[in-house]
Amino acid sequence: MSRSILFAANWKMHLSPGEARTYMDRFLEVDAPRAGRSLAFFPPAVSIEAVARALVGHDHAVVGAQDVHWEPKGAFTGATSVSLARSAGAAAALVGHSERRHVFGDTDEETRRKLDAVVDGGLQVMLCVGETLDDREAGRTDATTARQLTSALDGVDPGIDLVIAYEPVWAIGTGRNATPDDAARAHRGIRNVLQDLGFAGETRVLYGGSVNTGNVAALLAQRELDGVLVGGASLDPDGWAAICAEG
Ligand code: PEP
Repeated sequence: MSRSILFAANWKMHLSPGEARTYMDRFLEVDAPRAGRSLAFFPPAVSIEAVARALVGHDHAVVGAQDVHWEPKGAFTGATSVSLARSAGAAAALVGHSERRHVFGDTDEETRRKLDAVVDGGLQVMLCVGETLDDREAGRTDATTARQLTSALDGVDPGIDLVIAYEPVWAIGTGRNATPDDAARAHRGIRNVLQDLGFAGETRVLYGGSVNTGNVAALLAQRELDGVLVGGASLDPDGWAAICAEG
C-alpha cells in the first residue's frame, strides 16, 4: 500500500481572516497538488471560515479548529464548541495540543472529553501527544505517550476518523527537533499502543516540533512518519508550499 502523507499547518494565534485570505490565495497559487498527499490547516477560530471558503473545490485539503470545548453550548466565555467550529467550515479539530496541555492546563480527562465531543460532532480528530524534556531525560517518552493515548482512546470506536500527532514538548517552537531516528522510535511505541487499543495500521501518525524546509525531507524519509504537523514554519505560504512539496 502506498503511503499517504498528511501535511498539517497549525497557525496558532496568527493570521486574521483578511490575512488568511491573502495567505490562501498565495499558497494555492504556488502549491502543486499531488496524488497521495493531503493537507490540513488549523487557523485561529475567527479565520476558519475564510480558509474554508478558500478551500472550496480543493478536495485534498481541510480546515480544522485548534481547540474545542466539550460542551455543545453554554456560558463558556472564549470557548468554541464543535458545532460552532463546524458551522464555520471545520472538518477536523486538534485535541490535546501541547500548548493546551502545558500553557492552559488541559488535563488528560479534559482532553478525553474534547475528543469525545469532536467524535460525536463528526469531525476528524487530530490527537496530539508528546513528552516533556523531564520525561524524556528520565526515559519516560513511551510511558508518557502511552498514558496520553490510553486516556484519550480507551474504549473509543476504532472506526473513528483519527490522526495522531507525536509532538515532543521540548521540540515545539524551540528550534530543536527530534532526530529522524528518535522520531521513528517514538512512532513505533505509539503504533504499538494504538494496536493494543484496537486501532488499525491505517491510523496516520504525524511528527511535529520545529519542522522546517531544512529538516522535513530527512524526517519523512522515516517510514514510520505519515506526515508532519507544523507551527512556525507554516505561517509563510511560500515556505509552507516548499514543505508540502516534500510529499
Ligand atoms: C505545533 O504548533 O504543533 C508545532 C509543532 O509548532 P512548531 O512547528 O513551531 O514547533
